[in-house]
Amino acid sequence: MSPPLMTVVLASHNLGKVAEFRTLLGGIGIEVITIGEILPAFPPPVEDGSTFEDNALIKARAVAAATQMIAIADDSGLEVDALFGRPGVRSARFAHEAATDAENNAALLTQLAEVEDGLRTARFRCVIAMVDPFTEGDKQVVVEGRCEGVIATSAKGESGFGYDPLFVVAGVGRTYAELAHDEKNKLSHRGKAARALLPQLEALLEARRIDAMRVLGDG
Ligand code: IMP
Repeated sequence: MSPPLMTVVLASHNLGKVAEFRTLLGGIGIEVITIGEILPAFPPPVEDGSTFEDNALIKARAVAAATQMIAIADDSGLEVDALFGRPGVRSARFAHEAATDAENNAALLTQLAEVEDGLRTARFRCVIAMVDPFTEGDKQVVVEGRCEGVIATSAKGESGFGYDPLFVVAGVGRTYAELAHDEKNKLSHRGKAARALLPQLEALLEARRIDAMRVLGDG
């Protein structure tokens, strides 16, 4: 097996996300390590941004500064049109600060109880930020993936996490929780965002290759 062309650090402890990023980025020769593997005592930064982009950048910048490595962070959540975009950045804490997935799902169904079928439209959004601490001006890349759907009137399906059992994917007619892992990856907000990052990483690899050639040529 050839050595990785580059190593990036992921600002997440979520094993599912780590596995997804490893599969995708491993395909272009990029190794993914997590902040927990290199700095176990790293305090998670406060995610107090008002947008997914703000929060992804807060995390990626903090990890890039602490590790001096290229850092990747994501932030995601659900936007429901009838709730004017809520829960949005508060998706994990919709019912209350320490809410479980079941409590958040129950709160969502309650708030949409009077909303008729045609008006239950929603989308998942995922923003991924990549920060390179070596480039002048703290070069950063921000990409986004979206998945449109509607909020069901009751939970369906067993797999996944969060709002998966309530989110019916547009054009598919099944909830995220009724999809196999690979199927969800193909059409999910996170899968789309991660794939949008690939050309950016490939460009970074190419820039580094050109730099290395120049240094070797000068030597
Ligand atoms: P995170 O910041 O990306 O971990 O996501 C914040 C919250 O958004 C999660 O706690 C979930 O409530 C919700 N969320 C994000 N992605 C998904 C998903 O793929 N399925 C269900 N819920 C999700």
